[in-house]
Amino acid sequence: MREYVANVVQAATSIFDGLSVTFSHFFREPYTIQYPDRMPIPVQDTLPYRYRGFLDVDLEICTGCLACQRACPIDCILIETRKDKETKSMLIETFDIDLAKCMYCGLCTEPCPTGSIHHTREFEGADFSLESMVRRFIKEPVTAYKPKKKGEDDPVVAPILERGKRYIAEFADPKDDAPAAAGKGG
Ligand code: SF4
Ligand code: SF4
Repeated sequence: MREYVANVVQAATSIFDGLSVTFSHFFREPYTIQYPDRMPIPVQDTLPYRYRGFLDVDLEICTGCLACQRACPIDCILIETRKDKETKSMLIETFDIDLAKCMYCGLCTEPCPTGSIHHTREFEGADFSLESMVRRFIKEPVTAYKPKKKGEDDPVVAPILERGKRYIAEFADPKDDAPAAAGKGG
């Protein structure tokens, strides 16, 4: 009889132990994230600085060197350039990135001399066709950026170049993994 009662007590204790974890959830903050429309802050802002999201290109500082295109192992990037006969400057006529093919490896960003091509923290790319996943950065031909001496850059271009340089230093070629870069946008 004593053993029988002990078994009943043990069974009841085991059930209580298990359910106590379940019941505790009635009083805890819910873990559920009601993505995407009821977030206190956008998910993108919670991602680490070096998150490799969609690629973006700052054409203002693109030299048209094609290094990114050559670096891509699966030919996601298509750049077309030509020399303007009158001004002798280089024009970039096409800069497309196929985000449907892209595997977000970051290899294209590493050789970029200005940080023009860079990852962002954007990742929401659902669309209705693969064709619409090709990002076409150029509508009209743009003049390729020519590196200038320090302080000689156009005031509009200077902050963009500054962002690019910071990107190279902290993202594409990080010398230090310390949290100095944390929280900065790409
Ligand atoms: S991230 Fe990788 S796959 Fe995507 S375009 Fe750059 S090199 Fe190509
Ligand atoms: S994005 Fe960078 S690597 Fe690609 S063509 Fe422009 S300057 Fe060269």
